[in-house]
Amino acid sequence: MMRVDRHWRTEQTVLFTTLLAFGQLFLTVPGMAQGADAAQRNAAQNDAAAADNEAVVLPRVHVIATGGTIAGAGYAEVEDRDGSALLAAVPEVFEVARVTAEDPMTVGSSQLTPAILFDIAQRVNKVLAEDPELAGVVVTQGTDSLEEAAFLLDLLVDDPRPVVYTGAMRQPGQMAAEGGRNLINAVRLAASPAARNLGVLVTMNDEIHAAREICKLDSTSVNAFESTSGGRLGFIDGGSIYLVNAPRRRVSLSAAAIEPKVDLLTVTAGSDGHVLSSMLESSPKGIVIELFGRGNLPGSMIGAIIQAMRQGVRVVFTSRTRSGGLREDARWEQGGVIYAEDLGGLKARVALMVALGAGITDPTELQEIFDKLAGQVRVVANRQPHHQDIERPSG
Ligand code: ASP
Repeated sequence: MMRVDRHWRTEQTVLFTTLLAFGQLFLTVPGMAQGADAAQRNAAQNDAAAADNEAVVLPRVHVIATGGTIAGAGYAEVEDRDGSALLAAVPEVFEVARVTAEDPMTVGSSQLTPAILFDIAQRVNKVLAEDPELAGVVVTQGTDSLEEAAFLLDLLVDDPRPVVYTGAMRQPGQMAAEGGRNLINAVRLAASPAARNLGVLVTMNDEIHAAREICKLDSTSVNAFESTSGGRLGFIDGGSIYLVNAPRRRVSLSAAAIEPKVDLLTVTAGSDGHVLSSMLESSPKGIVIELFGRGNLPGSMIGAIIQAMRQGVRVVFTSRTRSGGLREDARWEQGGVIYAEDLGGLKARVALMVALGAGITDPTELQEIFDKLAGQVRVVANRQPHHQDIERPSG
C-alpha cells in the first residue's frame, strides 16, 4: 500500500501546472516504497513503527554517521550523537523507513582525510552489495568538507540506489536546529525509488542537489549550499519529493586506492611561481591550479608550471570562479595540461585523486574524464582549442 501525504494532491496540482508551464522535468514521490528485512539497531523503534503501519512494508535505509555539527561533534556544550542517537532524536524517521545505523567515527569534517573518505566510499559500496533489499544509504557528516566527500562517493559508487549526504549548520539544541529535518529528508530520499540513478545526492535546507554541483558558499546560513552551474535537482516539501531538473552525465570509476598526493593552488593577483615551486618539493602526483576567470594566469607562473610537467606531475587547470568554463590553450594542452572545465578546484582535486588512484595517468584519458564530468558531448579529438591570454609581465 502506498501512503500518501495529506497535502500531496493539492501541492502536486499546483506544482504540476507551474512546472509544465516551464517545460521542466517533473516528478513527485510521496517518500514511500517497498523493502523487507530486520533492523540491526533501533529495533524497538522499528518494531513500533511496523506495528503502527501493519499493512505497510517500509523500505529499509542504512545510515552511516560520521559526526559534524548535525551530531554536535566539536561543540563542548553538546554531547556527541552517534548514529543511533541521531535517529533517536528524530523518531519520525521510523515512519518513513526501517532505519539502521552505524558510526565509524564522530568527528568534525575538517578531520576527514582522502583516505577516510575513500574508506567510507568502500563501506557504502559494501553495504549496498551485501544487501540487495536495501533501498538506499544516508551518510551524515560535517558540512565543511561535505562537497568533497559527496563528490568522491559519486565517482566511486556504481549502484542505481540512492546514496544521500546530509549535515546541519546548527548544532543540536540550538534554536531552530535543522539537523533532524535534514536527516528525515535524507531518509525519505534514500527510501524513494524515484531517487535511483541520480548519482550521489545532497539534501540540506529542504533542497536536493547533485554531488557534482553542490558548493558550500556560506559559513553560517542554513542556506549555505548551492548548486553552481548545473542548478539544483529539486526540493522536498513535507512528505513529498519534487524533482525538477536532471543530473549531468556521471562518471563512475573503479579504484582500488586513492592517490592522496594531489594539491590545490589558487592563483591570486601577483602570484608568481614560488608557491608552486615549494609544492613541487614534496613530489606531488598531481596539482590542480585555480586560474583567473576563463583560464588566465600571470606570466611569472609559467616557468613553475612547465617545471611541474617536466617532473611528471599531472597538472589540471580550472577557474577560481567555481562556475563557468575555461578557454583551452593548445600550447598547454599539447604539454599535457588537463582542463577541468567548470568543475571547481575542490572537486577537480577529488576527481584527479580518484582517477590517479584508479591507475589512469595518461593526460588524454584524464582529459576525457573531465570532459565527461563537464557534460561535454564532443570527443577530445574534435576539440578545437584556441589560445588563451597568458598575461605576461610588462617590460
Ligand atoms: N564544523 C562542522 C564540520 O564538521 C561544520 C558543520 O558540520 O556544519 O564540518
